[in-house]
Amino acid sequence: MALPRDYAEQPCSLARTLEIVGERWTLLIVRDAFYGARSFGEFADHLKIPRAVLTDRLNALVGADVLQKVAHGRRFHYELTPKGISLWPTVHALIQWGDEHYAPRGPRRLFLHAADEQLVDTGGVCTGCGQAIAPTDIIIKPGPGAEPAHAADDSVTVALREPHRLLQPLR
Ligand SMILES: [Zn+2]
Repeated sequence: MALPRDYAEQPCSLARTLEIVGERWTLLIVRDAFYGARSFGEFADHLKIPRAVLTDRLNALVGADVLQKVAHGRRFHYELTPKGISLWPTVHALIQWGDEHYAPRGPRRLFLHAADEQLVDTGGVCTGCGQAIAPTDIIIKPGPGAEPAHAADDSVTVALREPHRLLQPLR
């Protein structure tokens, strides 16, 4: 018997949140959208999940108003909505928690304030200038824990070997 997707007996807002972002792959799709992935092919290429699962997760995120479908030529692109973009502090904090506990070689990616290239902390504050930094003003670049250049060759990984501004399309 499949587990239900909702936590009907749990009145807490965390349970409601997890119904949206707590499914396997969902937060990784959201992360990739922040990194600039937009097309089905980019998500599929980077995450290497079955296409049916990816379709299901993208539809659920569109249904929850986290992603929106935007016409792009004869296809669609998936872009974060304002509601989706407001997940950034959560996504960033979870990445940094993983860096702290599960990244012995150091962070795989660094999140820097675009204006002064200083690290942005988990509270979203630049460690250089002390300003609160919106995700659109953050540059991601490879950190000490980044994989060697030959480790993966999907379009997202390759594009992110260069510094890249969050939310800007990868190409
Ligand atoms: Zn700064």
